[in-house]
Amino acid sequence: MNRTLAINNGIIVTMNSKREVFRGSVLIENNRIVQIEKGEKRLKAEEELDATGSIVTPGFICSHTHLYGILLRGAPLKLRPPSDFTQNLQRIWWPMDETMNENDAYISALTASLELLRSGTTMFADTFSGPNAIDGVLDHIEKGVMEAGIRGVIAFEATQRRSEEEGYRGLKENERYIRKDKNEKMSGMISIHASFTVHDDLLREGKRLSDRYAVPLTLHTSEGKWDLYHNLERYGKRTFERLNDLGVLGERTLVAHAVQVNEDELNLIAQSRTHVAHNALSNMLNAVGIAPVPEMLRMGVNVSIGNDGYVFDTFENIRATFLIHKVNKLDPRVISFLQVLEMSTINAAKALGVSDKLGSIELGKLADVVIIKPSVKPTPLNEQSVYGYLVNAVNGKDVDTVIVNGEVLLRGGRFTKVNVEDVNRRAEELVGDYWRRLADAVEKVEVLKL
Ligand SMILES: [Zn+2]
Repeated sequence: MNRTLAINNGIIVTMNSKREVFRGSVLIENNRIVQIEKGEKRLKAEEELDATGSIVTPGFICSHTHLYGILLRGAPLKLRPPSDFTQNLQRIWWPMDETMNENDAYISALTASLELLRSGTTMFADTFSGPNAIDGVLDHIEKGVMEAGIRGVIAFEATQRRSEEEGYRGLKENERYIRKDKNEKMSGMISIHASFTVHDDLLREGKRLSDRYAVPLTLHTSEGKWDLYHNLERYGKRTFERLNDLGVLGERTLVAHAVQVNEDELNLIAQSRTHVAHNALSNMLNAVGIAPVPEMLRMGVNVSIGNDGYVFDTFENIRATFLIHKVNKLDPRVISFLQVLEMSTINAAKALGVSDKLGSIELGKLADVVIIKPSVKPTPLNEQSVYGYLVNAVNGKDVDTVIVNGEVLLRGGRFTKVNVEDVNRRAEELVGDYWRRLADAVEKVEVLKL
């Protein structure tokens, strides 16, 4: 039996190739968009949602996250405050990785997925790291993601910072998950931590697997200066020169950050059609610098927005991206409303290789759609003002309805399938235990030589 769902009389921000915006209605049949009507005509369906006075957008896509990062929120850690990004990894993230078990992976995946959905994100690309939870851990993450109902691309972040073998185990876990029979909303990819924690062979193997299974290969690149210095010292090459020489760059490769890059490296990114996941808030938090995003956009690089496991609210990430480059360049023209909205929808879909199915409201595409009802509208909300509203004024709490794969997961700002109070109770129990283990690990930090 076909299920039908109509969204009537909203301001439709399509993100189609013409970037059309109009007042109109959208009909969904099962999990696909089957009709789009401009104008006042109301479409009939089993369930009809009235979007009068609301904005209808494609589901937002977060191209780089670490769902488990949500467990750090408010963690009372006794540590010498990191003075740079490398110490941040050594004192916080790596002890965190080493403490993670399957239950932690599950509860963080569930709670972070709910938070993403709540603010209109319908798909994300997540990489998890945890040397004591490698084999099979993606099944636990999948369980949390599926309980929330969001669309997820998940992977284990292969690293050789502790041993060579561990890197291959990480890739094996990715390969296992890619080959696994899964729900249609779930998919896998290949993930490598960063060029400074792996040898050349692992990078080549990651690229081989990405090509073999036609899935994205993702890795952190030149987030702080350490990555750059490591590559210069060990290989005599800048980060992207080394990656290019190894054949790792390309249309299936999605690099996170690319902050500490020079013009030659930007050319390599552009020429190889490598995608970039930009994480403005996380870059500010870690004080690593500001990625040259306006230059990337000018050079035709496909730039998308990630949250890097820091702030999960979709609109906070969009707004940070919109603002940081203006102040950095002392020029408010360097990035537009439309560009940041593209980065969080269609560009992110391209980065993950799914722009034929997702990232815009178009006939035949999968029905990931968001309805946003700004609670206060001091100025007219119409086709002309809608981009400004989305970037300058909307926040996650204005998201009224979230539809993923044709199914309404949030209605009137409330989850339809998940009892959040129950999830919070379960999370509190598990996270209390996790924090105790993490506090122990943080106290015993051992600095690895890379
Ligand atoms: Zn990251």
